[in-house]
Amino acid sequence: MFNKRTKIKELLSQEPKNQLVTVMGWVRTFRNNQFVALNDGSTNTNLQVVLELGKFNDNLLKRITTSASLKITGTVVPSLGKGQKIDLKAAVIEILGDSDGEKYPLQPKKHSLEFLREIAHLRFRTNTFGSVFRVRHSLAFAVHKFFNDKGFVYMHTPIITASDAEGAGEMFKVTTLPLDGTAPKNSDGTINFKEDFFGRATNLTVSGQLEGELGATALGDIYTFGPTFRAENSNTARHLAEFWMIEPEMAFYDLEDNMNLAEEFIKYIIKYAMDNAGEDLEFLKQRLADEEKSLPQDKRSEMGLIEKLEFVCNNNFERITYTEAIDILKESNHNKKKKFQFPITGWGMDLQSEHERYLVEKHFKKPVILSDYPKEIKAFYMRQNEDGKTVAAMDILAPGIGEIVGGSQREERLENLVRRMKEMNVPAEELWWYLDTRRFGTIPHAGFGLGFERMVQFVTGMSNIRDVISFPRTPGSAEF
Ligand code: ATP
Ligand code: MN
Repeated sequence: MFNKRTKIKELLSQEPKNQLVTVMGWVRTFRNNQFVALNDGSTNTNLQVVLELGKFNDNLLKRITTSASLKITGTVVPSLGKGQKIDLKAAVIEILGDSDGEKYPLQPKKHSLEFLREIAHLRFRTNTFGSVFRVRHSLAFAVHKFFNDKGFVYMHTPIITASDAEGAGEMFKVTTLPLDGTAPKNSDGTINFKEDFFGRATNLTVSGQLEGELGATALGDIYTFGPTFRAENSNTARHLAEFWMIEPEMAFYDLEDNMNLAEEFIKYIIKYAMDNAGEDLEFLKQRLADEEKSLPQDKRSEMGLIEKLEFVCNNNFERITYTEAIDILKESNHNKKKKFQFPITGWGMDLQSEHERYLVEKHFKKPVILSDYPKEIKAFYMRQNEDGKTVAAMDILAPGIGEIVGGSQREERLENLVRRMKEMNVPAEELWWYLDTRRFGTIPHAGFGLGFERMVQFVTGMSNIRDVISFPRTPGSAEF
């Protein structure tokens, strides 16, 4: 057996009692032929390994370069240096992998996030990305724990699908037909997808919701947590072409139940990350504060990262209707002074991210749940309200991010649903299986979708979504 190592994070919590341990990791720095700062990814804190002068031969010492990988056995002793409680006094050093320190792209200096995106295969080895990905893990684990503890069933919805949940999403096509112009055609010149692998046109899923509803209308409460794909050509700091979405769907829930669950869920996973990745959040808080030092005062966050997270956990989200939001925006000085790029034209308009951010960041200064949107700007499956104009939709807006959750109570009345599908040109024949849930024991139900990367952005304070997913897919970019 090779791996009998102690992880550095664990080791740093032990008392130094001359105990013999083995560690493995990568060299961050090597000073004076005596001090190795070793990192193994379990924490940003490096282990200081002390090499007694004269004990190791020169040939070995030369091979201890930045990013070389080492296996070291030694004893744990109190540190004489400042900044750490313990040192590892090396007895045996084995080089697992050499590294040409000169050619290694990560030099011990500050690199920009943009540069690190170009070497995304190595950026995990920086403190920033070490922290981001450990926090991301913590949040992912919390997602499962939250739903599992509430008796939800984790449902895996298909990645390849023939349906488009949003009605008009930009989708990636999935096909095995040749792309060189020789694909079989119909008499009208269009591609004959009957000849394709699945005997029909298919695409990568934009949402697991419709299938999720099938699960919820039998199992009760389900959630999905998987990748979704959108070929939207929006090059923003909040959009990816491939992102992970959490979509719970609950039987016997109305819109208010839905909001309550979403709010509880967001607070829970934030709290979980604070309790289990506190050290990494401390690091990220400092990183953000340093980054913001270069910004003008009015562009800086009012609260530090951890303060912000605590604030979100300890305060109720503001809940207002779309109609109230439009009134607030219309009456705002910001609008009157024509400071919005898209002026508030009135009821019925779709809210832009600048409007959403004004509401959360300037007006309420806390997360906001907006509900009851005009039916024209929302999907066909949302439950129609009595007023005939709005639907039981809700979006949750977060400071610094904008929309983080989109959800609704679903239209459970067959007639209403079919009528709305006709009005919106959604082909009812193709969704016969979806409509069956309304034919055979229909129930009130609701659900929402939370974009996982936007949540990770919110918790880590990273301003670009490309920096919270290991290998971002965006327009023009699919390296690694
Ligand atoms: P937006 O208006 O920001 O594009 P949307 O209205 O298209 O969002 P939904 O279709 O409601 O979003 O998707 C549910 C959630 O998925 C959103 O609230 C958001 O958190 C996340 N999301 C949507 N599109 C993306 C994307 N391209 N990249 C990352 N996350 C996304
Ligand atoms: Mn979108």
